[in-house]
Amino acid sequence: MRRHPWVYATAIKRVDGKPKAGATVQILSHDGRWVAKGAYSPSSKIRVRVWSWNETEAIDHAFFKRKISAAIQYRQQWIKDTNAIRLIAGEADGLPGLIVDQYDRVIVCQFLSAGVEYWRDAIISALQEQTQCSLMVERSDAAVRSREGMPEQSGILYGEYDGKLISINEHGVQYGVDVLGGHKTGFYIDQRDNRRMVSELSRDRRVLNMFCYTGGFSLAALQGGAKSVVSVDSSGDALGLAQRQMVMNGYSSELATWLDADAFSTLRELRSAQERFDLIVLDPPKFAPSAQHLERALKAYKEINRAALQLLNPGGLLFTFSCSGAVSLENFEQMIATSVSEALAHMQDQETNYRVMRRLAAGLDHPVLASFPEGEYLKGLLLQRTQ
Ligand code: SAH
Repeated sequence: MRRHPWVYATAIKRVDGKPKAGATVQILSHDGRWVAKGAYSPSSKIRVRVWSWNETEAIDHAFFKRKISAAIQYRQQWIKDTNAIRLIAGEADGLPGLIVDQYDRVIVCQFLSAGVEYWRDAIISALQEQTQCSLMVERSDAAVRSREGMPEQSGILYGEYDGKLISINEHGVQYGVDVLGGHKTGFYIDQRDNRRMVSELSRDRRVLNMFCYTGGFSLAALQGGAKSVVSVDSSGDALGLAQRQMVMNGYSSELATWLDADAFSTLRELRSAQERFDLIVLDPPKFAPSAQHLERALKAYKEINRAALQLLNPGGLLFTFSCSGAVSLENFEQMIATSVSEALAHMQDQETNYRVMRRLAAGLDHPVLASFPEGEYLKGLLLQRTQ
């Protein structure tokens, strides 16, 4: 597709010379016309990632300053009521492989491609200059680094860190973020809009939050006046942090139950105990890390979705997500249709159905380039049991 920023190794006929990892190379079409310039990655299947479609644009320090400045300006225009923001979202901001999140005055970076690794000093100094952060942390401890032939690494890039949680405030809820030890860069910033919707729809509802991690959706539900919230995760550390945050926000611990358990078996147990909920959040980890895991992943998604649908009271809401890039929106919606059909097959009531109320996605600080739809990793649906 035009302006798609990746060139696969299989699409390359010839490489002149021996470009080093991250070096800037020129991409020419089969008939010798100049197409773009990009970063070479000798060990990745994605052999080149495009920096520029403009032949006269130099790839230098000034280039990175411009890209970072444009990315920050876009967020300043669109993101309010929070100090946890994805400042740079890789390809969508013209910087393939670079993820930068801001938590208050702390910047957390992930260098996930040979190109951004090559330019890391330029990127770090541009970020320092433009964000005036007090602390900069690297969290390039993501498995995708190995596909680029790079070791995982993390640590402090700039500033001094006392190891305390970084406190952020999103729509009036305070969350503590573990920038060195937490998942990804510490917090699921991408779910901000969906947390808000959960908060708005939780009043007097009995809420179940599966795969709750540090309790993002659980706290949003408590803020919104939920009658009770059951939260499930298999990480004791994440649950511990979630409970501390509940106290920090002044929510009554009597309303909340935290279960350190496997989500699959918990869903089965809740079903056999005939438990029912008015609002369920299902936000599992990436079941499909790559396309070859797709089929098995879809089976797992179907199992938990079917169970969650069966746990809803009439009128109850299900927020269901997949953050697997390898699962397309079409795969996801097809899987939900099958889950609904299987859930209905087990119901006595002939009138029951589920309606799709809304499609859900990441917030505006996670833009998706129209020419790079693969960038849309987070997809979700809000479903309601009709009666
Ligand atoms: N919903 C969370 C993010 C979920 S990340 C938020 O908004 O912050 C996925 C979570 O699933 C992780 O916390 C991980 O510990 C948990 N997890 C992974 N496999 C699990 C399983 N089989 N049972 C329960 N939790 C699981």
